[in-house]
Amino acid sequence: MTLYVKNNKFYYELENLCRIFFKNEKIEVTEYDEGIKKSPYIYVEVKNDDTNMVSIIEADINGDFIVKEATIDEDEKEQERQICIIVFNILCSITKQKPDWGILTGIRPVKLMRKLIYETSVNDAKLYFKEKFLVSDEKIELCCDIAARQDKIIKFSNPRSFSLYISIPFCPTRCSYCSFVSQSIEKALSLIPGYIELLLEEIDYTSTIVNKLNLNLETVYIGGGTPTSLTEGQLRSVIERINLRFDMKRCREFTVEAGRPDTITEEKLRTLKQLGVNRISINPQTLNDNVLKIIGREHTSNQTIEAFNMARKCGFDNINMDLIAGLPTEEYTSFINTIDEICDLSPENITVHTLSLKRSSRLNQEGNGECVSRPEAIQKMVYYAADKLRKEGYKPYYLYRQSKMISNLENIGFTKSGYENLYNIYMMEEIHTILSCGASGVTKLKDPYGDTIERIFNFKFPYEYMGRFPEIIRKKDKVLIFYDKFLR
Ligand code: SF4
Repeated sequence: MTLYVKNNKFYYELENLCRIFFKNEKIEVTEYDEGIKKSPYIYVEVKNDDTNMVSIIEADINGDFIVKEATIDEDEKEQERQICIIVFNILCSITKQKPDWGILTGIRPVKLMRKLIYETSVNDAKLYFKEKFLVSDEKIELCCDIAARQDKIIKFSNPRSFSLYISIPFCPTRCSYCSFVSQSIEKALSLIPGYIELLLEEIDYTSTIVNKLNLNLETVYIGGGTPTSLTEGQLRSVIERINLRFDMKRCREFTVEAGRPDTITEEKLRTLKQLGVNRISINPQTLNDNVLKIIGREHTSNQTIEAFNMARKCGFDNINMDLIAGLPTEEYTSFINTIDEICDLSPENITVHTLSLKRSSRLNQEGNGECVSRPEAIQKMVYYAADKLRKEGYKPYYLYRQSKMISNLENIGFTKSGYENLYNIYMMEEIHTILSCGASGVTKLKDPYGDTIERIFNFKFPYEYMGRFPEIIRKKDKVLIFYDKFLR
């Protein structure tokens, strides 16, 4: 379909909105000048009719033709919202759908809810979500519930708090839905020793900045990729360096993603435990072996369960497990079996993702028709998961959305009481600074007293990271410049 725009700059938001309704269609965005418009299309024009700003919206889709003209606000942000509401309502009436998140397309709805609650009140914030963004009552309650749970954790963060993220961008194989720049171990084996050497250098340099600024390390997260793709010795060297360089006395949480069960060994788990790691993530995604094979994960459901039991034996009492609803060929029944079996294991956190068709993933490039053709089934999976987890005593504690999610749903982290993952909350809600080391790491600097956020991007691929390492180190000095404005 084509999105024609005239005299306005709202194409980014409008394109995102159209994508909610036309998931599998290419949306072409064009500045309209004159001539015949190619159906199906949405046309959005803003004009000043001497006394007022006016929007003219035209939709010609599947034989339905609708035109709406309305007076809109002078303020551009408000104009954009008002136009989105009109387009949303037109698309709802044509497609007979009413997406739960209304016109909200951002990835952090809970952050927005919290901001509104702080500025007004819980009731006014709820009303705002309902009337100004057309969000469903169910999602409004979900956002409020999560915001309230997070508030208890957020209050522990102070102006000098920060979290440390370490990126290990290697995996045993590449999952078909992955768009991350992770390199398969086979191809990258020879890079790893050199990568680690430089990573240790970056950790050292980051710690000198932290000491100069007198910042407090609250949480550490080693992610990727699959950090447990490294050997026991390599993992040890990274964690020992963190423990040596940073003041770990106040660090309240140390997570290592042990994502792929086939990379987990008892030796590695014992090392993690001995070095102070107190949370790990073992990610089955599904316990259906056929689906695992199709998505390119070379492990079985049994290996997941064995890895989980091994982690318990090694003393891990805080384990997360990630699941994905909507994987290719996954049926409703096999998904609910996965949920039930994972509940039987009783991990402290269960994160339920909805499949997102990322542009550069193999799944998206090789054809995804089967996944996008059954949004109702996927919605049912997600509802089952939420219902079952609540019955088992889990509570939702963080939520984010991604573009191109099937069924326009969300990812939700569920937790047993008292096991909320602090890092996820600090990072997703942008509560404090995240200092990142390693390829594809993004340092996010947060003004401790306001909303300003600045980002420093490390190079994405390990070979770029290694080849241009001096630039990475130079860029780190921006942390000092940033904090100079707020802390000294
Ligand atoms: S384990 Fe994660 S990072 Fe690695 S290939 Fe799969 S989805 Fe990508």
